[in-house]
Amino acid sequence: MNVNQPAPPGVPYGQPQPGYTGYQSGYGGQPGPIIPPTPYGAYNGPMPGYQQLPPPGVPRAPPSSGTPPASTTARVPSGQPAYGQFGQGDVQNGPSSTVQMQRPPVSQPFVPAPVAPLVNQPAPFQPYGPPPTSTQVTTQMAGMQISGPAAPPPSALGYGPPTSMASASGSFPGSNLYGSYPQNLAPPTSLAQVHPGAQTPQRSAPLQASSFPPSAAGGPRPPSIAGPSMPGQSFGGPPVSQSNHASSPPPQAQPPMTGPPGPPPPMHSSQPGYQVQQNGSFGPARGPQPNYGGVYSGAPNFGSQPGPPQPPPPKRLDPDSIPSPIQVIEDDRNNRGSEPFVTGARGQVPPLVTTNFIVKDQGNASPRYIRCTSYNIPCTSDMAKQAQVPLAAVIKPLARLPPEEAPPYVVDHGESGPVRCNRCKAYMCPFMQFIEGGRRFQCCFCSCVTEVPPQYFQHLDHTGKRVDFYDRPELSLGSYEFLATVDYCKNNKFPRPPAFIFMIDVSYNAVRSGLVQLLCEELKSLLDFLPREGGAEESAVRVGFVTYNKVLHFYNVKSSLAQPQMMVVSDVADMFVPLLDGFLVNVNESRPVITSLLDQIPEMFADTRETETVFAPVIQAGMEALKAAECPGKLFLFHTSLPIADAPGKLKNRDDRKLLNTDKEKTLFQPQTGFYQSLAKECVAQGCCVDLFLFPNQYVDVATLGIVPHHTGGSIYKYACFQVESDQERFLSDLRRDVQKDVGFDAVMRVRTSTGIRATDFFGAFYMSNTTDVELAGLDGDKTVTVEFKHDDRLSEDGGALIQCALLYTSCAGQRRLRIHNLSLNCCTQLADLYRNCETDTLINYLAKFAYRGVLNSPVKTVRDSLVSQCAQILACYRKNCASPSSAGQLILPECMKLLPVYLNCVLKSDVLQPGAEVTTDDRAYVRQLVTSMDVAETNVFFYPRLLPLTKVPAESSAEPPAVRASEERLSKGDVYLLENGLNLFLWVGASVQQGVVQSLFSVPSFSQITSGLSALPVLENPLSKRVRDLIDSFRAQRSRYMKLIVVKQEDKLEMLFKHFLVEDKSLSGGASYVDFLCHMHKEIRQLLS
Ligand SMILES: [Zn+2]
Repeated sequence: MNVNQPAPPGVPYGQPQPGYTGYQSGYGGQPGPIIPPTPYGAYNGPMPGYQQLPPPGVPRAPPSSGTPPASTTARVPSGQPAYGQFGQGDVQNGPSSTVQMQRPPVSQPFVPAPVAPLVNQPAPFQPYGPPPTSTQVTTQMAGMQISGPAAPPPSALGYGPPTSMASASGSFPGSNLYGSYPQNLAPPTSLAQVHPGAQTPQRSAPLQASSFPPSAAGGPRPPSIAGPSMPGQSFGGPPVSQSNHASSPPPQAQPPMTGPPGPPPPMHSSQPGYQVQQNGSFGPARGPQPNYGGVYSGAPNFGSQPGPPQPPPPKRLDPDSIPSPIQVIEDDRNNRGSEPFVTGARGQVPPLVTTNFIVKDQGNASPRYIRCTSYNIPCTSDMAKQAQVPLAAVIKPLARLPPEEAPPYVVDHGESGPVRCNRCKAYMCPFMQFIEGGRRFQCCFCSCVTEVPPQYFQHLDHTGKRVDFYDRPELSLGSYEFLATVDYCKNNKFPRPPAFIFMIDVSYNAVRSGLVQLLCEELKSLLDFLPREGGAEESAVRVGFVTYNKVLHFYNVKSSLAQPQMMVVSDVADMFVPLLDGFLVNVNESRPVITSLLDQIPEMFADTRETETVFAPVIQAGMEALKAAECPGKLFLFHTSLPIADAPGKLKNRDDRKLLNTDKEKTLFQPQTGFYQSLAKECVAQGCCVDLFLFPNQYVDVATLGIVPHHTGGSIYKYACFQVESDQERFLSDLRRDVQKDVGFDAVMRVRTSTGIRATDFFGAFYMSNTTDVELAGLDGDKTVTVEFKHDDRLSEDGGALIQCALLYTSCAGQRRLRIHNLSLNCCTQLADLYRNCETDTLINYLAKFAYRGVLNSPVKTVRDSLVSQCAQILACYRKNCASPSSAGQLILPECMKLLPVYLNCVLKSDVLQPGAEVTTDDRAYVRQLVTSMDVAETNVFFYPRLLPLTKVPAESSAEPPAVRASEERLSKGDVYLLENGLNLFLWVGASVQQGVVQSLFSVPSFSQITSGLSALPVLENPLSKRVRDLIDSFRAQRSRYMKLIVVKQEDKLEMLFKHFLVEDKSLSGGASYVDFLCHMHKEIRQLLS
């Protein structure tokens, strides 16, 4: 035992000494009052709608009293870092009565009873059965055009410049995310000549997978898999059009393409055995086409096309033989969706984000808070370098939980604050080891031994476990919160409750579009739904109002006034706040004045002719107002145009599409001035979070305007060409959710790790002024921070690796808290263990964020190439070290990563990395920023959209129809589909859909009478209509932003919008099809292996 281990020199931490006051925490074995857990505790107010009932309240001082708890016998000298968490200040021993008053009753008292019995039961966790083995896809490279040394990579693969779009652009109604789209489609000019013969062996049932990996890769294979390519395929000619759907040809037309003319391979897709793999579990409802004829089976001219003679009749890789995201998602749901995920054991791989499951916290953080790229990490950096698998965690510290799961308990360690390691300052957690009869504990992160503070002392049982183990969340759970003492507060003062400031552009565009009127009307009712903590009766959040164009107008809405007063600040060069008293007010107290103001604003500016706006001074004004009020807060900016008015932060239009695919393309993603970065830094220091709602009619330079929201942990919403009639539902839904959601203010996050690894890189919307502390002026339950880890020493298989994420923040009621998440991972000396415990969805989240940051500094082509190269290395390392020897013609993928190629391809051809002609510079900057904060579930559906057929399941059924792959060939002309990616939502109607279906959904007699571009379905009283509308509602409820519906008819011009999301197909911008990309990856891997 390292009892006497000296602290290393130079560690600048002073540990607060326990105060010996005999303070009893509320959890010393005395269960507090049992309050039914509120499903969303501190962070999870009812989100959508306005159904918040005033819960039985916890009384709280009215916010306007604003008296910050004035306790403190110790002060951090001004100028020192204000956060006690990371540089613990002096001892704080304020009078305990004061401390008690300053700690409002915890919103979620710990109720220990239910936890204990569970833990004592035989570990119910379900070890992650490494599902089957590896996936083998054999491609016959011989004869493949793609692999020919002389052949340059076809542009279809997307590694060359995108094919130019020689088409006119036109605006479509409803195309909000992507302003305009080309109307004409160039037909694909060439067929990627990739041969079939590639087969995925049957996936064995998951439980048969025990012999991973050696036997896995070498599992029985049909002899023909690696056989010579099939001669005689006759569909090598380029199709003249791609516009048809797989189901369009009658079934009898397909066999020639389905069955190879030559000797059929034993496992061809047309064979019954093969059908089982795909269609068996999909069921007949799954795929519209009984026989998959290959990628181009739907091309009507196939075979009849005279075309040039085809010397080596090429064959396609059968899309059904390559790993299917739908199948993987389905399998995981079936295998893991029925049992709770119990977090007791180290290194468990959680179910996929697409699986519905319940989490039981038994000592590790829920995957809703932390997901890792791998749950078993290499012991040495050499191994890690060899594998090239990024070691990263996607952390969502304030994630919302489903109602079935309890929010983190709040723990109060009394006036001496949370118990921490003396040296590394890690917080008490289930992995700390108590020794010497419980008088000391050894840190699981740095091994330092720390005295247990007297008030925290407890005896150990015969196993060395504290007898109060189950009574204390911080000893038995992976996630919990500590009440923070004043040491953890800025300037050693408890924070005041936050304020929201609404800052409304009242220039010509904003008024004319109806935005100002709409917004003011909405705010009148929305202000009743400001976030409240726990059971509080009213929100502690104060509000203020500013309008602006070239000048700023502040409003005094003090409750004693009969009418609001306006104060104009025209000197925007040196922004100041003209009034303090009466600017930030309690909504209930000032309601008549606020209502009057919101009624007057649209009238006051109804006839404005001012078109120019300022932007930076608006943020400065909001920040200064918060500073003057000494509180954190959030600015809600509603802005319409490029800020060209003469003022600090003035911008010019620098959009230039000629920069695409040049070395200068990166400048389009960079801010055009450094001014906003400095402003962001000031905002963060003040705890001023900025949410930006943009309503542009043209380029507004999102890359620059987004800097402050991005670095303050805020959000951006963009409504291009905003029109009240068509866009108000989306805007108001987003606004309501944004205003109501809980936010942690003035937050600092630090990730500690056990010896051997450390956090080296961070991705997300935040600010960092040093290399370890992630600073967030605001953090809400939708935002994630992705953290990368690197080795700095050797890890041991016995010890594993530990991660502790500590988030210090101010709640919406002004309470200072620490939220702690702990996660333990396994460590391995065999690469196979790494590959067996990876999570591809998380890997893609990391890789996308890594790439999207890369475009700031490198040409997008370089970024794409390095992504491909890294993934090829990951897969080549597996092939070389983990798979059993096999023919080089086989592509062998680790089971846990078999979707890596298809998902990676989606990232590569995303709008940021390979934009189509219709994607604007602002769109790219916007998407880039959105993805940076996305969690794993969001990136998963964003890059690979969900596509559901709607008429295959009986209309009365409440079950969600089984999804189909995002490819045109999966669409049946006779069906209707819903597609969503978290931002966009389409209803696609096939041209041959039954009249009854058309009538049921649209209340019109025929397909031709359906209005293209419709954004809502009529409310009709029939089962199909109801079910589809319910499905749309459920999609929307799952996402953090409102998805506006766009109805698309087959072969209508709007269909181009929709096809953009069929990500397994070749894209218009030159992005490769999945099949082509898989072949390309195979080639890359073979090169690495040879
Ligand atoms: Zn330590």
